[in-house]
Amino acid sequence: MSGYHMSPDEFRQRGHEMVDWVADYLTNVADYPVNSQVDPGAVRNALPETPPEHPEPFEDVVRDLNEIVMPGITHWQSPNWFSYFPANSSGPSLLGEMVAAGLGVQGMLWSTSPAATELETVVVDWMVDLLDLPQGWKTTGPGGGVIQMSASDSAHVAMVTARELASTAAPLDSLVVYASDQTHSSVEKGARIAGFSHMRIIATDDTFAMDTDAFATQVAEDRAAGLTPTFVAASIGTTATTAVDPVRAIAEIARREGMWVHVDAAYAGSAMICPEFRHHQDGLDLVDSYTFNPHKWMFTNFDCNLYYVADRKPLIDAMSILPPYLRNEATLSGEVIDYRDWHVPLGRRFRSLKLWFVLRHYGAEGIRHHIREHVALAQGLAKRLSDDPRFELVAPHPFSLVVFRHSDGNEATLRLAADLTATGRVSLAPTTLGDTTAIRVSIGQTNTTAENVDVLWAMIDEMS
Ligand code: PLP
Repeated sequence: MSGYHMSPDEFRQRGHEMVDWVADYLTNVADYPVNSQVDPGAVRNALPETPPEHPEPFEDVVRDLNEIVMPGITHWQSPNWFSYFPANSSGPSLLGEMVAAGLGVQGMLWSTSPAATELETVVVDWMVDLLDLPQGWKTTGPGGGVIQMSASDSAHVAMVTARELASTAAPLDSLVVYASDQTHSSVEKGARIAGFSHMRIIATDDTFAMDTDAFATQVAEDRAAGLTPTFVAASIGTTATTAVDPVRAIAEIARREGMWVHVDAAYAGSAMICPEFRHHQDGLDLVDSYTFNPHKWMFTNFDCNLYYVADRKPLIDAMSILPPYLRNEATLSGEVIDYRDWHVPLGRRFRSLKLWFVLRHYGAEGIRHHIREHVALAQGLAKRLSDDPRFELVAPHPFSLVVFRHSDGNEATLRLAADLTATGRVSLAPTTLGDTTAIRVSIGQTNTTAENVDVLWAMIDEMS
């Protein structure tokens, strides 16, 4: 091969080495301190200020990866990862990602790689059945699904669509967004991005679910003040405690007012592959849009977010622009889907490939098995904590997150979290709920087992 390129043979050799590198990493990941121990600037200062003018040996790059980059890694794939919701992963997902990078296609239009569009359509339609979502959300119905980067993107697109619909009948500065005090911050950010000038934060009850009476009262007050209730976000599995908002009750109020209802099931959506959790999503037949992240708890590495709408027309009306350079016969025929019309970016990765690899490798039964395992581990830990007078559970634990506090109060809770994390053997995140400081134990990394949770419990027990 001429010039500076890596030849296919060298790529094959280096590729095998790097697959070994990743496999070794995943085999030994539990041996690293879970949270990176470096000081700010350590990685940056160890690297040259100027880029290389001349080619460097691949071995040198791998050496620096090992010596400079790795100490600055926080090990999300450690089985001792208990802090934020997982961003879990799996062999089939990594392989699907590698193939997608190898193919290097841009799936912005059907015509720019028909398989990228059609595989995505198949996979998002499969997920409707797997999670028991409304059948009308399949591409064969009025709705449809699309893969985006993040749940935040989905919320932002939903809000722009709702704004476009509402602003045909009401002034932009009268539109109001509603969310609970537990809703993910992406909704507030979306309200800013979409240009809403009114956002109402609705109180939650003692389970941290939205208080629907407070919601109905606020909507009535806003209506009486001449404002236009436009958008409400309901959560199935909030970030702090995995609280579940009463989707049906919220949607019934919102529909009477002609509002857009968006459901954020970013983390807990994965659990719906198990029928026993589906009562938590009652009311989806009344909502306009829904999002969940296979990249959190479905063994599919970041990024992979699914966004569904009950009716795709307003979404496409809000997002579609057809400049001359994108015109092509297939698009003009109206017979194909161009997913660039379903979100903000034009270019799009072939994300469905890794999800397809995952679904085929595990089958629904494999995913159910591991989700149930994680939930059982969380329930077991919750029992140990609630049976012990030194601790209190501060929220219900319907999925695989347990939130607890030290009975001695906030200071003792913070100290316990700090002591546990300082060992480097686990990663945990404190959170605040009103005046209460609590510790979130989020179980969901692909390889977390009973042994990891037993060790965590032994550490909590010893340090309390
Ligand atoms: N919604 C909820 C409930 C979350 O917990 C999170 C992240 O943890 C998000 C949305 C944002 O997800 P993303 O990083 O995909 O934007």
